[in-house]
Amino acid sequence: MQSLSQTTDSLLASAKQSLLYTANRPDVVMTRGEGMHLWDTEGKSYLDFIGGWAVTSLGHSPAILQEALAYQSSQLVHASPGFYNKPMIEFASLLTEISGFDKVFFASSGAEANESAIKLARKHGELHLNGAYEIITMTNSFHGRTLATMSATGKPAFQPLFEPKVPGFKHVPINDFDACFAAISDHTCAIMLELVQGEGGVHSVDAPYLQALRKACDVYNIMLIFDEVQTGLGRTGKLFAYEHYGVKPDVMTLAKGIGSGFPLSAMLTTAQYDLFEPGDQGGTYSAAPLGMAAGHAVVSEILERGLAENAAKQGALIQEKLTMLSENYAVSQVRGKGLLLAFDLPEGTAPVIAAACMKEGLLINAPNANTIRLMPPLIVTGEDAEKMIQILTGVLEACGLQNEAVYS
Ligand SMILES: *Cc1c(COP(=O)(O)O)cnc(C)c1O
Repeated sequence: MQSLSQTTDSLLASAKQSLLYTANRPDVVMTRGEGMHLWDTEGKSYLDFIGGWAVTSLGHSPAILQEALAYQSSQLVHASPGFYNKPMIEFASLLTEISGFDKVFFASSGAEANESAIKLARKHGELHLNGAYEIITMTNSFHGRTLATMSATGKPAFQPLFEPKVPGFKHVPINDFDACFAAISDHTCAIMLELVQGEGGVHSVDAPYLQALRKACDVYNIMLIFDEVQTGLGRTGKLFAYEHYGVKPDVMTLAKGIGSGFPLSAMLTTAQYDLFEPGDQGGTYSAAPLGMAAGHAVVSEILERGLAENAAKQGALIQEKLTMLSENYAVSQVRGKGLLLAFDLPEGTAPVIAAACMKEGLLINAPNANTIRLMPPLIVTGEDAEKMIQILTGVLEACGLQNEAVYS
């Protein structure tokens, strides 16, 4: 174990003393971020292929976000959720214009955006489906950590927690239309899914499956909800992941990349589902000026710089490099879309490899014991990708994960 400076040691001691233990965090304290890099209190730099958990779409502390926050905070930080404000109107116009939806509700986190979608689905059930309230969601899905979104989540580890759960969620495996169809009943008001399961290990839904879900929803007047909290705003190489499939949902939720680090989320829907009445949904910080200015600046920049296209291009290059790596190392199942990528390693080794990479100054994520996920900022370059592969190769070598050479 390397020895840390006194400052870092005392910060870590304070952290352990005063913070609730809700995450296993390594013994570093991050102090600064710029572009593709983070720095800790020891002055060590990290090439960031976790991207703040698929959040820092423009990289760390982008100038455009600093300027938007500085300007808006000099004008108006918070008026009241009971008033319109200018950034709210401007950002709502921009987001509806680029997304193909008519209406938007803003919140601060992905879980809240999904709560809004769940409420809107129940409202639809109440108004149009004789009180139907059940929502079909997917095994291994992730929708957030509030009680309702944990109940919607199909992650097995969540199942025993915080019982009783919010009732009204049925879980079915992805890409199995028959299973979903069998789960539809008179009580069903919505189907909710991610198009690429991010936390679940980067698994994409198939186009024919999604088309079949759309058709079933149309026939039974069931609301189709896409949770694009992780996949939205360029991450998968299109502005929205639904564009890969040619299947449009009735409701789409966005968060993570929308603020490049500023806490912000949105639920979008069509005029047909403009069903909320005053009092149904809201929040003290809903559409507050500072966040709206941040979101407007970030999304405008994603569009102007063509960062969805960059995600498609760099993602394809990274997949190629990883596939080449799989010839010599125990890397398999290279997959994903755009800059939401993953590959498998031998069972149990993924967290070890991620930790070893961190020591070497590279941040990558292990969503489970045999998967590595990459979700770098959308500004990632070919040089960054080359550097990532170089560090990863060294770590795989040092950890003895080379394929056994076969000589004949
Ligand atoms: C991260 C995530 C959420 C939850 O977002 P929070 O901002 O953490 O509440 C919901 N759905 C998906 C698909 C996510 O990746």
